Amino acid sequence: MNPSERINLHDLAPLTLDATLRDFVSPPFRAKQIEEWMHVRGASSFEQMTNVPKELRAQLAERFTIDFPRVVEVTPPAPDGSRKYLFALADQQRIESVYMPMGDRTSVCLSSQAGCAVGCTFCVTGFFGAGRNLTPGEMVGQFFTIVHEHQVPLELMNVVFMGMGEPLLNYENVVTTLDILYRTVAPKRITLSTSGIIPGIEDLARLPRRPNLAVSINAPDRERREEIMPITKKYPLDELMAVLRRFPVEKGRDITMEYVLIAGYNDSPQDAAALAKLIRGVHAKVNAIPLNEDANLPKWMKRPSDAAIDRFVDALVSHDVRVTVRRSKGRDIAAACGQLRGKSEPRSRASRHPEPVERRTPSSATARRRAATPPDHPSRQPELADRRVYRPVGSELAREKRHPFHGKRR
Ligand code: SAH
Ligand code: SF4
Repeated sequence: MNPSERINLHDLAPLTLDATLRDFVSPPFRAKQIEEWMHVRGASSFEQMTNVPKELRAQLAERFTIDFPRVVEVTPPAPDGSRKYLFALADQQRIESVYMPMGDRTSVCLSSQAGCAVGCTFCVTGFFGAGRNLTPGEMVGQFFTIVHEHQVPLELMNVVFMGMGEPLLNYENVVTTLDILYRTVAPKRITLSTSGIIPGIEDLARLPRRPNLAVSINAPDRERREEIMPITKKYPLDELMAVLRRFPVEKGRDITMEYVLIAGYNDSPQDAAALAKLIRGVHAKVNAIPLNEDANLPKWMKRPSDAAIDRFVDALVSHDVRVTVRRSKGRDIAAACGQLRGKSEPRSRASRHPEPVERRTPSSATARRRAATPPDHPSRQPELADRRVYRPVGSELAREKRHPFHGKRR
């Protein structure tokens, strides 16, 4: 069979894989063995299946493939140990993933598309424009490649769909990928981040097993969200919030509201108050993400000062909103999604992959905050916490000047 005609078995949902294998191999336990090699051990060649007869492996290889994307570049580790992977797909498209050690646990950030059509104005991937949907095998392949490379025990893995692309615009393949990942990673250890694709969120709500949901809110009102996230015109903010209020949130979980802080644009205490009001009624916590600056972003888009970040976070906390502040893991390794790929393409921008630092009480009450934070939380691990965020904020700190372009078109 022509190699390009062979099915990549890693692209099949577990039930379809099982049916396909049972048609082809016997006795039935062989199908189970092969499935385990693929979904539990992350095999990327039939040769690795040493307990499967050699002849059968050869027959399988004639008919099928179990390919993963090829690693073309890995950045040296950042001081926090995170590394970025650049993969080449079969059609030579490039995608990125990030390995992030976080104390006892390890997170892998996966791409779901080779670009993004949503086109948020602050985002590197959006700057590249649309790219094709990744297949399940290409997503699972990112995961297992990094797991193997770093010998991470699967029970210590977290997975986040926060790399390149909008996962809910690649819904079917992402759900198949989730079903494969659930074999080794619990749904509560997986987070899917979306720009707010309402039909996709509604479909997620109906799934029997769901990952954690993160929604990129990024603005406290419709007008500003339409400016920086044009998808808001298609899926209006008030409708999105209504859907999130109805979303079934499992016990012990929250919906994460991601909020990229842009200096002088959406980072004032008034903006925090508006955000607190906007998310009222949603079982949510906010994840504040200081903007990762990049030369290709609009010039006025800057990361807020630490004092401004503190003021924003304090204002949210004073409105009883639980907040985490994410600090970039990527700066030292130029490891933002899109940036590595951008080296080989003229139009690159920098990115994000910040880490969470839990913040439940006002910044002046560091001791109380730590007491309220679970012992295994990343903010308890000194190498992960960015203490600047917890500095008491004095009233003597002057308010940052609002940016002249605040609320205006660029
Ligand atoms: N498309 C999905 C998931 C990928 S983007 C989504 O938008 O949610 C993952 C996160 O990175 C989003 O919360 C997005 O707001 C954030 N992000 C994008 N560009 C950024 C930048 N320049 N600085 C900081 N965070 C950024
Ligand atoms: Fe796409 Fe998410 Fe970037 Fe927006 S933030 S352009 S949805 S990847």
